[in-house]
Amino acid sequence: MNISELQSFISEIPDYPKKGILFYDISTLINDSKAFMYSIEELASLLKKYNIDKLAAIDARGFVFGAALAQKLGLGLVMIRKKNKLPGKTFSQSYDLEYGQDTLEIKSNLSRAKFALIDDVLATGGTASAAIELIKKAGGTISCFCTLIELKFLSGRKKINVPYETLIKY
Ligand code: AMP
Repeated sequence: MNISELQSFISEIPDYPKKGILFYDISTLINDSKAFMYSIEELASLLKKYNIDKLAAIDARGFVFGAALAQKLGLGLVMIRKKNKLPGKTFSQSYDLEYGQDTLEIKSNLSRAKFALIDDVLATGGTASAAIELIKKAGGTISCFCTLIELKFLSGRKKINVPYETLIKY
């Protein structure tokens, strides 16, 4: 497998979830054992050069890659969730999406770890910058942000003020 073969496992769904949005669907990639395994191997090797002692992943598709990477790298995982999903004391951050507005939350009693933040897609960068703020609010530091896919034409990278890694660019 190589990166362009891996890319062929991503489905492009027009007008989802709203008219005018081209949705990059990773469910066809994770449905294939070889493609999923290859994506985790490659993401893990992108993270090698960073000093990381924990992963954080963004609700919900970020959890798929975050959990597999945490196992592969032997690291713990923190879930950054959509609002009202985490019990106990949390920090919240609202942000604008390519298609709407949302709020993310993190548990407030995090250890002071060096994090790699994981998600499936970087689009406009609103989600990732909110997640980065949350990790900082909770006392963590960020070594890097890493996604499977970057939608370069949306320039989300400009909003990301930490080192950024990605496997597939559109
Ligand atoms: P953004 O905040 O605009 O960078 O959006 C990133 C988040 O929304 C990620 O968690 C993605 O899962 C999701 N997302 C945004 N746009 C798309 C898209 N065109 N295709 C697939 N996922 C998307």
